[in-house]
Amino acid sequence: METIKLAGENNNRINIVILSDGYQESELDQFVTDATNFSTELFSQSPFLEYSDYFNVYAIKVPSNESGADHPATATDVTEPLTPIKTVDTYFNSTFDGFGFHRLLFYGIDWPSSNIARSKIISVLADNFPAYDSALILVNSTVYGGSGGEFPMSSMATNANEIAIHELGHSLFDLLDEYYPGDGRLREDINATKESDPSVIKWKNWLGDNGIGIYAYGTSGEAATWNRPHQGCKMRYLGFPFCSVCKEGMVEKIHDLVSPVDDFTPDNSSNIENPTFPLDFELTLIKPNPNTLESIWTLNGTTIGNNVDIISLLATDLMEGTNTLTSVITDNSPMLRVDNHETVHVTTVTWTINYSALSVDAINAKSNSYTISLYPNPTNAILNFKFESNTNTPITVNITSLDGKQLKSLILSNYKSTEINISDFSAGIYVANFYTNNTLIASRKIVKN
Ligand SMILES: [Zn+2]
Repeated sequence: METIKLAGENNNRINIVILSDGYQESELDQFVTDATNFSTELFSQSPFLEYSDYFNVYAIKVPSNESGADHPATATDVTEPLTPIKTVDTYFNSTFDGFGFHRLLFYGIDWPSSNIARSKIISVLADNFPAYDSALILVNSTVYGGSGGEFPMSSMATNANEIAIHELGHSLFDLLDEYYPGDGRLREDINATKESDPSVIKWKNWLGDNGIGIYAYGTSGEAATWNRPHQGCKMRYLGFPFCSVCKEGMVEKIHDLVSPVDDFTPDNSSNIENPTFPLDFELTLIKPNPNTLESIWTLNGTTIGNNVDIISLLATDLMEGTNTLTSVITDNSPMLRVDNHETVHVTTVTWTINYSALSVDAINAKSNSYTISLYPNPTNAILNFKFESNTNTPITVNITSLDGKQLKSLILSNYKSTEINISDFSAGIYVANFYTNNTLIASRKIVKN
């Protein structure tokens, strides 16, 4: 296995693995070059560009007996043979004319014949990199073609990399096609909805900006009942950028998979006997480029720093007894319009410092991540709150008016949806403040109709 791009440890990165097909042993150096070029192209495109440090890329060199891919000339969408008929012995049996489409390059001509190659792909991944997040296959052919699904494929034709990038939109980020894929093939998703009301549509925060609107997939039949956010997104046309709605969904998924806190010190294993002051507390963050992460540091509930990676405490900063130092990390990327949006990702690092007389007895450190949801928003009555976290510490939500008067308070449990009724509130804007261990970790606006 070759490392194409190493941003950090695999356990806190999205790991993309590229396999070869149709490259002979003597061509595997060319495969590594092709995989590197694919990676370079991928990370030149937003949001991969900004979040590059959240990804590792590896290449597994799988030799084939012969070069290229099969072309049986059995496609029914073109006049065959469009390109010369070819039968070659490759490891994953790549072939054009999959399912009758000339450009459909797949590891089998149909589902039954793809099972053998699929088992081989799974076996190669299990032997080399079982913890992959997404695996794709580059095929050593200059004929344009590719396919999506479980293991996206693309040939080495000019612009064929765009097929694999579009397919990563499906396989890694759960985006749907923004061209009409056929009746029964759409569902409610990040970039597709039957909702057409601009006040509640899931991408309402983007309407009117960057070409985002409410566009029907078609003019009649089922296609006319589904809406997409953009007319020229990569999920519709290759060679175009991802639209703002897709990018937002991708960035949220990146935060689902990877904590922006790569490391912190001291950790629980640090030796803290007889520490000398000042005591340093440090975060190692995975920073987007440009860096849109914000950190707010509080000591015993008082803010002591913003947007710094390291805080130094003096003995005089500490109280006798238990002190709590917390850093709350959020991403304020303009790609995320989280105000009124359903979910927000928050990561916290908390150090508990037991200070007595002139010594620090113990420091306990932990990092937690939270995905907080509130929906529907706006609402005229029912509001649901939910959080998901790696900790079972409950979250307190205080709902206040804009002038800070507390109107309601509730306690949320991990993974449980909690419902409240605010039909007695007058119409207007309110604020939900989320606290854990008395530390504010997130604030969201609520719109009451
Ligand atoms: Zn899109």
